[in-house]
Amino acid sequence: MTATASEACARYLSKRGSVRRIAQAPFGLHRGLGESLSAFRDGAASFLDSMERQLQAIGLPRPLHFDIIESAFDDDSSGNAGQDAYAVADPYAEESETPASFVLFTAAFARDIFLAWDALLTRTELFRDVGNPDMEQPAAVLVAPGPADPIRAAYARDQALLTLEFALYHEFYHVASGHLEAIKQAGLEARLHAVTRSPEQVNLDARRYKVLELDADMMALRHLTTDVLAGRQLVSHGALETSSEGERFRHLGRSVTLLFRLIELWRRNEHIQYTAADFHPHPDVRDATLHAYLQLNADTDEARSLELAQAYARGQEDIIEALEAMNTLAPNFGIVEGLGQDLAARETEWLIPELNRIRKEGVCAQDFRRVAARRRQPQADEQAGS
Ligand SMILES: [Zn+2]
Repeated sequence: MTATASEACARYLSKRGSVRRIAQAPFGLHRGLGESLSAFRDGAASFLDSMERQLQAIGLPRPLHFDIIESAFDDDSSGNAGQDAYAVADPYAEESETPASFVLFTAAFARDIFLAWDALLTRTELFRDVGNPDMEQPAAVLVAPGPADPIRAAYARDQALLTLEFALYHEFYHVASGHLEAIKQAGLEARLHAVTRSPEQVNLDARRYKVLELDADMMALRHLTTDVLAGRQLVSHGALETSSEGERFRHLGRSVTLLFRLIELWRRNEHIQYTAADFHPHPDVRDATLHAYLQLNADTDEARSLELAQAYARGQEDIIEALEAMNTLAPNFGIVEGLGQDLAARETEWLIPELNRIRKEGVCAQDFRRVAARRRQPQADEQAGS
């Protein structure tokens, strides 16, 4: 019997050990945030359903499943707090099955994104453009349960959802762009990690992984940009409903930039340093690449790209400033400036041309962009011939 993507995921998790269970609401969050995360899980599931149909329509059958799991794959006794997100190609598919792909977030990854936004909006001196910041805690108070102002509490939730959407799209584009096929080595499992890296692939070429990460970032931002301009959202949230387009791009810049900094913070807690052998690009490189992408492509029809990219850059700056302020209050919250920046600057020289090359040529035969282009080509040839 052929397994559905959801059954294939359950089979995968059970073969990876009994602790890799599906996490249940409220995910260690208080009730309101637990409900938001449940709503996100539903939104993510229907997003992947719709993407599965679109891929099928261009001849790429690829069953997809999203879930939130209890603990990280490399969780052991090393004190790993378990924040990670994954794109996985099912290695256990029967011969009669079309291999499924999974996008998985650990509960800690999703939970901490909500908690980080709550922590930022709880500070009276941060994000003074949102709601009534004077209702919040003075700088000296370190622990508050969440923003006191309901407008700021709602904003924190909306921004967390936007951050999770970017993370979801990033992992999805690892699947759709053929990244998993591109890194698959005979006999090895193909799994991409957002924070750590898969033990099967530690000896492989790190440069290739860095480029794939930037490619997934750009595809995710491209998708979100289209959503933002069209007023579409995965889970209904006010930040993208009420504000002007410039403001929405500023919210977007805040969300994406915070995700990169949180990832770097979690990596540092795992003692993963930014080096040439690392699989992830430095957060500054990711920030700069996305900003450059928006400058050229944010709104190709109406030539407002520069304006929207500037709004996005203001969001990026807001996060860097906020984390600098948080760092003086709670060093563990941390900023990562300076770590490996020299190396990042040198790597940009080859990363960007390599990124441009794979964006033109596709990553592999299973890259949906390459497949879609090939399907368009015969029609174009026909038209040219007629
Ligand atoms: Zn990735």
